[in-house]
Amino acid sequence: MQAQPGDKVKLETTEGIFEGTLLPRPELLSNDITIIKLKTGYNIGIETKKIKKTTILETYKAPLAKKQAAKHNPELPTIAILSTGGTISSRIDYRTGGVYADYTAEDFVNMCPELQQIANIKASKIMSIMSEDATTTDWKTMAEAAVKELSHVDGIVITHGTDTMHYSAAALSFLIKDLNKPVIITGAQRSIDRGSSDAFMNMVCAVTAAAKWNGAEVAICMHATMNDDYCTLLRGTKVRKMHTSRRDAFHAINDEPLAHVKTNGTIEITNENYRKRNDAKPSVRKISNQVALIQVHPDMDLGIIEYHLKQKIKGIVIAATALGHIPITQKSLGPAIAKAAKAGVTTVLCSQTVYGRVHPYTYTNLRKVSMGLGVTYLADMLPETAYAKLCVALTEKDPVEFMKQNIAGEYTMRELDDSFLL
Ligand code: GLU
Repeated sequence: MQAQPGDKVKLETTEGIFEGTLLPRPELLSNDITIIKLKTGYNIGIETKKIKKTTILETYKAPLAKKQAAKHNPELPTIAILSTGGTISSRIDYRTGGVYADYTAEDFVNMCPELQQIANIKASKIMSIMSEDATTTDWKTMAEAAVKELSHVDGIVITHGTDTMHYSAAALSFLIKDLNKPVIITGAQRSIDRGSSDAFMNMVCAVTAAAKWNGAEVAICMHATMNDDYCTLLRGTKVRKMHTSRRDAFHAINDEPLAHVKTNGTIEITNENYRKRNDAKPSVRKISNQVALIQVHPDMDLGIIEYHLKQKIKGIVIAATALGHIPITQKSLGPAIAKAAKAGVTTVLCSQTVYGRVHPYTYTNLRKVSMGLGVTYLADMLPETAYAKLCVALTEKDPVEFMKQNIAGEYTMRELDDSFLL
């Protein structure tokens, strides 16, 4: 029998013996190379002519576990897990060597049985996407699915790709009006079939937070440190992915983390300033996708706003430099912003430094932008949060008024110098 991709094989070669999982040969690679994934996770290529003998140690089996029906425990709260895709729902596809979204929320429960010690789990897959592909329509679908469940569960966990998790967290914070229970978003930096996956601990902590935290906010729950010690709960409007690959990539920006969540089921509150569980009836606001997020940079092409106007954009978020500067002296973005305003476009501005706040009046140039061009300065709001908020604000009666209101903790009134780069 010839070895197939996915089979565990032993290759006896002129250069030694290698054991690993046979991977498919990428189309661009010559037929003369055989690739295997070693136990360490590394892939190696071996010249096929150097292989003297191939032994199949184990044939490839689909890794999904047999599903078991969960028993309802009336003493425990009930949590709905809604899965949307991303690495936390992915496993390695041995036919392509990449990772693909596959596991449903039900599969998480089967793979992580301790979840049933914390809560009764209701599970459903609402979409299966990588988060870089998420659209404003997907945000609406997530919000609607969460609100549908909220009337008969004690909290919600949404599993999500990490890349744009903070955009979704912000979008859901604004889309869900009158939130009454926690909506906790979690994910994983390493896929679930790797020994080093952070998925299990993140899931346990997210379900713990959804079951026990007394908050009624959208929050992200992810590893707090590089170790598997505890997770941090971060307000959905004040959080950002700050590292490409570390487990502790998510941080609170211009805000304190809401809580530390431990795998033993305890929650240590680190920020008392949050919306508490309540009896409100949540509903879903509308959303627009006619918003552009524009990063200011030296020698930028000033035609970018013209371009967006042609696309019939209705809102612009400018990620300006530091206190809120845009090019205005040598070459000016001013006339394009004025033209956008005339066409009914709402322009708002945040800082690309991420930490700190923009100040509309400190310098003459800033006054030219805020007072002269009517651009709304958003204090310490993150550009990604402002983008999600403006998508929702455009469907409200007075978008600028909506942008100025503190709807979901997106403005922190206090200066938080102690939390810088923590
Ligand atoms: N880029 C993918 C996503 O955000 C995978 C990364 C991840 O989940 O960590 O969905």
